[in-house]
Amino acid sequence: MSKKISIIGSGFSSLASACYLAKQGYEVSVFEKNNSLGGRARQFKKEGFTFDMGPSWYWMPDVFDKFFNDFGKKTSDYYTLKKLNPAYKVFFGKNDFIEIEDSLEKIKKVFEKHEKGSSIALEKFMAIAKDNYAIAVTDLLYKMPGLSPLELITKKTVLKAGSFLSNIRKEVRKRFKNKKLRLLLEFPVLFLGAKSSNTPAFYSFMNHADYGLGTWQPTNGFYDVVLAMVDLGKSLGVKYYVDHEVTSINIVDKKVDSITISNKKIKSDIVVSGADYAHTETLFNNKFRQYSKKYWSKRTWAPSSLLFYVGFDKKLKNVSHHNLFFDTDIDNHAKNIYDISNWPKDPLFYANFTSITNPKTAPKGCENAFFLIPIATNLDDNNDVREKYFEIIIKRLESLTGQTLKKNIIFKTSYCVNDFKEDYNSYGGNAYGLANTLLQTAFLRPKIRSKKLKNLYFSGQLTVPGPGVPPAIVSGKLVSDLIISNEKTI
Ligand SMILES: Cc1cc2nc3c(=O)[nH]c(=O)nc-3n(C[C@H](O)[C@H](O)[C@H](O)COP(=O)(O)OP(=O)(O)OC[C@H]3O[C@@H](n4cnc5c(N)ncnc54)[C@H](O)[C@@H]3O)c2cc1C
Repeated sequence: MSKKISIIGSGFSSLASACYLAKQGYEVSVFEKNNSLGGRARQFKKEGFTFDMGPSWYWMPDVFDKFFNDFGKKTSDYYTLKKLNPAYKVFFGKNDFIEIEDSLEKIKKVFEKHEKGSSIALEKFMAIAKDNYAIAVTDLLYKMPGLSPLELITKKTVLKAGSFLSNIRKEVRKRFKNKKLRLLLEFPVLFLGAKSSNTPAFYSFMNHADYGLGTWQPTNGFYDVVLAMVDLGKSLGVKYYVDHEVTSINIVDKKVDSITISNKKIKSDIVVSGADYAHTETLFNNKFRQYSKKYWSKRTWAPSSLLFYVGFDKKLKNVSHHNLFFDTDIDNHAKNIYDISNWPKDPLFYANFTSITNPKTAPKGCENAFFLIPIATNLDDNNDVREKYFEIIIKRLESLTGQTLKKNIIFKTSYCVNDFKEDYNSYGGNAYGLANTLLQTAFLRPKIRSKKLKNLYFSGQLTVPGPGVPPAIVSGKLVSDLIISNEKTI
């Protein structure tokens, strides 16, 4: 009889591990506390508007392709992808913006306009970024379950040792003088959850993900990916249960024996938790926990976010699908997130309008908008503060894009620290898990197999490789590979 594996949560890492483990012949069930699948990538619909609740930037398409290829499928068997052009628009002030187009050649021309000689500097920088990407994604990512520091040591990484000691900011500032260009090149690593000055230079592979591989969009948004992975999982025999919150992990003879949902015990030979790691360890007795409260409180957390999902009764002018509002000081904002844990005075923000590229995501003649302000975890979150920030960003949006908008709002729904905690059992209300700083890379991240309970495993953005959808998918593969290889040796 095949062994039973219970997976907690239905984020991308869980969806991925469910497929790999079912393919191997295990009896796999996925239990999600919320009423829909996808974890932080759930979908939200209101009054004819459709929103992706979390991820919106589809980067590293090769990781998604590899996932489906592992099952003899193609991404295009499930959803259609379009390369966005412009990939995104960055606002630095009124009538002051840069559009990032869909090829390095076009981007080089824009750089050259802003700083003489910068196109050549960019070409050189991007060659290193591409090389780093090949090492990071092709050579390392799938072979790095974070069990030993030796995983990081290969002939190629030894040659790159210097780039683990330097940081992105230093490397960018050495090569570029123009403030805007510097900001453009320091932006991609924000996805890894830390400041560019605190992110190893090796992570410039994110610049290759950006300018080299481009920004893509599934037709109906990120939720297409969730549906695709669930569809694949069902074809492999995975069972999915929503509204099933796991309230305890039960231990007998130093092994996980079952999980409890609605006072009912579900026998499990193996449990994989894709729920936030810190929360998972509260589901069983203290003596089996590997990480203390102090450990979690000392981590560098990727930001939380203040989000708004807004329906406008008109089409907006002068904006793109993805827009970054970098018209205020990024260092000040970052200081508030990482150093002093305060609400930022002049926040940077991001705005996404999917109805520009897919009109079906809003009623005719309308626009859907998703706004995101990155903030520190654990901030005091209440309605007044949310309203205050909405006023700030809507005024800035009106002024920077030259249009009135406030009176065109049909509805707005906010989402912040308290919701992250309540909906996802997220530590401190984090949005993206643990940052990828040097001291939180690879074997220095929380382990994917419990050291105290041999049949308990972990996946997701708090483990290896780190935050973001592609890493979460890889995390699902890493944990499945480890289970499969450990089971062989039993
Ligand atoms: C606002 C936002 C924007 C983002 N933007 C991007 C982007 O543009 N591009 C990108 O690549 N990434 C982005 N990310 C990051 C990306 O979404 C995440 O890194 C990734 O989806 C995390 O996947 P995960 O597998 O760790 O699981 P999660 O998505 O964290 O899912 C964990 C699941 O476990 C469930 N759970 C928790 N406790 C229990 C329990 N006791 N019982 C049952 N279920 C439980 C939760 O409800 C949740 O559904 C964004 C994230 C957010 C929040």
